[in-house]
Amino acid sequence: MQNFAPFHPPQRLLLGPGPSNAAPSVLQSMSQPLLGHLDPLFVKMMEEIKVMLRSIFQTKNDLTFPISGTGSAGMEFCFVNLIEPGDEVIIGVNGVFGTRMCDVAERCGAKVTKVEAEWGCIIEADKVAEALKKVSKPKLVAIVHAETSTGALTPVEEISKLAHAAGALFLLDTVTSLGGCPVKLDEWGVDAVYSGTQKCLSAPPGLAPVSLSPRAMEVATKRKTKVQSWYLDVNLLASYWGQERVYHHTAPITMNYGLHEALRLVLEEGLEARWKRHEQSYLSLKKGLAEMGLSLASQEGHQLWQLNAVRVPEGVDEAAVRKSFLNDYSIEIGAGLGPMKGKIWRVGMMGENSTQKNVEIVLSTFKKTLGK
Ligand SMILES: *Cc1c(COP(=O)(O)O)cnc(C)c1O
Repeated sequence: MQNFAPFHPPQRLLLGPGPSNAAPSVLQSMSQPLLGHLDPLFVKMMEEIKVMLRSIFQTKNDLTFPISGTGSAGMEFCFVNLIEPGDEVIIGVNGVFGTRMCDVAERCGAKVTKVEAEWGCIIEADKVAEALKKVSKPKLVAIVHAETSTGALTPVEEISKLAHAAGALFLLDTVTSLGGCPVKLDEWGVDAVYSGTQKCLSAPPGLAPVSLSPRAMEVATKRKTKVQSWYLDVNLLASYWGQERVYHHTAPITMNYGLHEALRLVLEEGLEARWKRHEQSYLSLKKGLAEMGLSLASQEGHQLWQLNAVRVPEGVDEAAVRKSFLNDYSIEIGAGLGPMKGKIWRVGMMGENSTQKNVEIVLSTFKKTLGK
């Protein structure tokens, strides 16, 4: 039998599309002793997570808690609970995650109408209005707020109003936006939302914060058909995360410690201050890149603060630069996907990592690698 050495990963600076580095105190919190998942002390902590999540999502929604799973599990949670076979759904597609939402919705039996935009651009409200006119009874309109695959931030207030005027629910993916730029569920009329822990919340991947408005909850509880997923059925999950504490699944104890600490740090810093920090990193990175003759590929005026799509200059080997970042400097940056493959690097400035110091590190590493 072969002997296996313990795994000791090196320290990397994770400046790609996620995961980003977790805050040190988050990792420390995760090495604390385990509690049982129905231990009164653990239950008390779960309650605090719900309160902190409502505050960060800016919502009064009672049904607000983390799904045990990564961001994509949050996506699946929203669709399996709100969609029944034959429902008409409108989905904005301007990158990988809008495309993934279509796949998930189709697996739920939805009739999907796509509202497409060029990758790197936002979903325009008037295109959504046109699509709404074409379907007879729209159940749901879904948009990716911050498209991590392209670096574009779609403004959603107008789209939310259009969805409601047509009698549909409004669903928003905030995996990359939450904790990095304004996300205001109640003000924007968002009915269903999911996020992830490993982007701007600076915790490891493993949980997906979600929230459903009373209107969405009514749809989920008054369905004609049973939710196809037992694990993600909100009707069952609500009695575990709600006051009854009925055993459903064992919450990932340690991940919840980590999320609790991560949310605490977000609130300690303050949402406005945290958003400002992300904005400043973006502005200063963009300025520094411009000085080197590099530019961003996403739509001007709608660029993400937490994810920069840096255009690969003519004649430069995109993969070789990324490889040098990783092997020579222990820095991870991301590649382009789909139509942007080979054309951009994705530089994440998420959560804890969004600092002036990291901006300078990225700029100097680009200078060194591109100089070669
Ligand atoms: C990362 C991401 C997801 C998927 O999250 P996982 O944690 O990878 O499952 C979904 N949507 C967006 C916008 C993302 O950036």
